[in-house]
Amino acid sequence: MAEWEQATWVVRAGLPDAEPGTPYLPGPVFAAPYHAPGDPTQSRYTYGRFDNPTWTAYESALASLEGGPCVLFPSGMAATHGDAILRAIDAAEAPVAMVWLESPTNPQLDVCDIAAIAAHAHARGALVVVDNTTATPLLQQPLSLGADVCVVSDTKAMTGHADLLLGHAAARDAGHAEMLRTWRTRLGVIPGPMEAWLAHRSLGTLHVRLMQQCRSAQIIAEYLAERAERGSSIRNVRYPGLPGDRSHPLAVKQMSQFGAVISFEVPDAAAAARFFAASRLVYEATSFGGLHTSAERRARWGGDAVSAGFIRLSVGLEDVNDLVRDLAQALDAI
Ligand SMILES: *Cc1c(COP(=O)(O)O)cnc(C)c1O
Repeated sequence: MAEWEQATWVVRAGLPDAEPGTPYLPGPVFAAPYHAPGDPTQSRYTYGRFDNPTWTAYESALASLEGGPCVLFPSGMAATHGDAILRAIDAAEAPVAMVWLESPTNPQLDVCDIAAIAAHAHARGALVVVDNTTATPLLQQPLSLGADVCVVSDTKAMTGHADLLLGHAAARDAGHAEMLRTWRTRLGVIPGPMEAWLAHRSLGTLHVRLMQQCRSAQIIAEYLAERAERGSSIRNVRYPGLPGDRSHPLAVKQMSQFGAVISFEVPDAAAAARFFAASRLVYEATSFGGLHTSAERRARWGGDAVSAGFIRLSVGLEDVNDLVRDLAQALDAI
């Protein structure tokens, strides 16, 4: 990130030099085989499962944000499974092979001390992987905090338009990135060029989107916390940006801003249903980080250890006063 601020990088990262008559961001390259006569090592691109110029452009943009080489995957889960192979290859001798953490956690928004955990893990010979999806590299830089690998679901805030799935892994060690690349090629766990191009296009607005979402989320979290204090319909409002939140001191230490996601609890599933029925601006949907405000009652999936009325709210780009008014009337309705 030398020389330029993040706001500049997201707009310019990965773009080709300004050649007369060419677009700023070249369109997606759709190719299975590429022309590759003679010695195949003489062609930068030979076959679509190995590499693609549209991936290359987005991966190089991501690398400049993450501070390490990046490998793109067709989803966050694919990036996660790619990293799991490093456990077997790299840390076979260590008693603990890999420490995997997420911060802030989805959906409860607890914050882990990445630098401290990395130091402990490294002392025991373990690799450290951080799932940085809720923060993105703009708000938190796991590699510079000591993580070996950082994984992100680009499906969420990175792309932010609720129109694609994608993921990436960034590694501090170029050898690790190469292992992930090889795994991707062997298994054919490859992203589509159209998705990679849409992601690169969306990256240009990541900084303005996220900064606005963080500002609005702070205002909304404060409103909800004040409501919870009055005992008005909700309790346990969690947002790392709230000064009273148990995650706040650590979040201040390792994050530049506190993200778009807030959680809170309403009394039960029926109250949550009344909340969603009454809201006009909160889409009831899974996922988070996008430009449309959305929320869901997490217990409806059955997987998370949360109460029946636990709601994860993702703050979008709508006017914050409209959002507060809508949330207020929807919470009054429960
Ligand atoms: C969504 C998500 C994933 C999975 O990403 P997909 O793109 O849906 O495969 C992984 N980790 C976190 C924290 C997520 O929110």
